[in-house]
Amino acid sequence: MSARITLHCETAWRYGSCPAQVMTNAPSVSEAREAADRIGWRFSASRDYCPPCSGTGPAVPVIHLPPNHKGRHQ
Ligand SMILES: [Zn+2]
Repeated sequence: MSARITLHCETAWRYGSCPAQVMTNAPSVSEAREAADRIGWRFSASRDYCPPCSGTGPAVPVIHLPPNHKGRHQ
C-alpha cells in the first residue's frame, strides 16, 4: 500500500498564491509534514509554507522516503 501526499504552500499574494508544492511518498500527512520539515517547510496551524516563503532555503519538489523508515529517526 503506497500513498502519495502532496503538500501545497499556502502563502497568498495580492495576485495569486505561491505555486510551490512538494510531493512525498509518505503514508500519512503527519509523516509527509515531518519529512517536509526536514527540507525547510514550515507549518503553522493547518497551513503549509514552502522553504522560500519560510526563508529556510530552496524549494525541493519531491521527497522520497525510504520504504521502511517507520520508527527510524535521523
Ligand atoms: Zn511558498
